[in-house]
This record gives sequence, structure tokens and C-alpha cells, in this order.
Amino acid sequence: MKARAKWAEKQTKCWLCGKQAWEVFPPKLTTHEIIRGVNRKKGLNIPGAWIRCCQHCHGIIDGWPIAKQYALKKIMDGKNYNRELCNVARGRQPESITEEEVMAEVAKLIWMELK
Ligand SMILES: [Zn+2]
Repeated sequence: MKARAKWAEKQTKCWLCGKQAWEVFPPKLTTHEIIRGVNRKKGLNIPGAWIRCCQHCHGIIDGWPIAKQYALKKIMDGKNYNRELCNVARGRQPESITEEEVMAEVAKLIWMELK
């Protein structure tokens, strides 16, 4: 849990809207786990599962497919991106979501930004 808090401290902006804590309401950023449900506890210790966002964007990301969440992780925190580990922690096969699926979502997110 300590590592998660330390990591969170370094994330100064929401990964989706780009706003800082003082620019959103409530004025704080939250950590979303890509790993949810019964396996969520495992995700608290896996840096690859963490996404930093404001509460508003948290609600949006909650509704995204997992491949798209991985894509945001890869773009914003590539150093900690670990698709295979997260797939397994989610109780699936290491390739249940493939790199190709993630890259397709990366392309869409980047295209949105370029548009
Ligand atoms: Zn946001």
C-alpha cells in the first residue's frame, strides 16, 4: 500500500482531463485499479494496475473496456505498464487481452488527441 501512495504522489494531473487536484471537484485525484471485483485487492500491490485520475474521470474510466484502460496506462505510465501480469491477476490467461488489442486502443486515444 505504501508503494501505491508514493506512486500516487508523483502523479500531479488527471491522466484523462489533464487537470490538477485544485482544478477539479472534489479537489483531489484518485487511484483507479484496472483489476476489479474479487481480484481488486491484488491490484493494490501491482503498479501496472494503477491509473491516476480525478473523480469525474474515474467514473468514465470505470466504464471503459480493460484494453482501453491498459492503453491509457501504457501512454501515461509506460514504465509500470504490465499487461500480462494484470491479465493473470485478473484471473485470466496472460494473453487474454493481447498487445495488439491494447495498441488498437492506444491508436484511438492518440487519434482523439490529434483530432
Ligand atoms: Zn479528470
